[in-house]
Amino acid sequence: MAKTKGVYEWAKNNFNISIGCFNDCKYCYSSSIAHRHGRVQRDCWKNMYTKSYAKIDEQLKRLPKTKNTDPDLYDIMFPSSHDLFEENLEEACYALSKILELGKTILIVTKPRIAVISELIYRFQDYKKQILFRFTMGTADDDVRQYWEFNASTVRERMICLYLTYKAGFNTSVSIEPFLEDYTLIKHIKRIQPYVTHDIWVGPMNFTHVPKEYIEELNQDLYYTPENLIRIKNEIDSLGFDNIRYKDHFLNKIKLEVST
Ligand code: SF4
Repeated sequence: MAKTKGVYEWAKNNFNISIGCFNDCKYCYSSSIAHRHGRVQRDCWKNMYTKSYAKIDEQLKRLPKTKNTDPDLYDIMFPSSHDLFEENLEEACYALSKILELGKTILIVTKPRIAVISELIYRFQDYKKQILFRFTMGTADDDVRQYWEFNASTVRERMICLYLTYKAGFNTSVSIEPFLEDYTLIKHIKRIQPYVTHDIWVGPMNFTHVPKEYIEELNQDLYYTPENLIRIKNEIDSLGFDNIRYKDHFLNKIKLEVST
């Protein structure tokens, strides 16, 4: 199977200011990697802490000086291994303003909270051309959201954030990755579409880092069989939206099915 690019399908580099993440999603890739490398115990991942301004300054100095020549990729994805909360908002705004002043483009990826998004769209209204907000919205069923992303914002709060950001004139995008069930998917895409100025990404869950008991509890693997992915893709394609993008591991799974 082709190697997937993960976050590098979206941006040249990442920038993170916190370790751990209050959301504590059951499928979290970053917590699994941190646990595997002995950096953070999996059950301590939710105890997020934020780096000092001195550490953030050091990190800013290490940003690549070379110009990104790929028009499909943002210079920086921010953040990639935690989320944005009121608790790390000041440090986030500090780092964002420094990066934006360097003229870099930023992809802000988050499970958005109203308090955070209101502040960002207020503070960075002069940098609209350099920013794309990509909101992770994996389901329209809040019970399912709560199972997988227990401490994250609700479906309703994310929808309000998308609307606010769009109305404020920012570029918007949605990541339905991982999609957490398939029965609301088409309705979900139709509902968010009017408020998305850029692309909507769809991708399955990557099971490599998900404890087996979670997958089994909801029969989660049934959603991501190659046959089901082909059916889902056909249904989405039949909507006729030209801004739907499929993550490479979605397409790889389908290719494998077709070639066997
Ligand atoms: S929001 Fe992202 S980084 Fe935070 S726990 Fe969920 S998957 Fe992990």
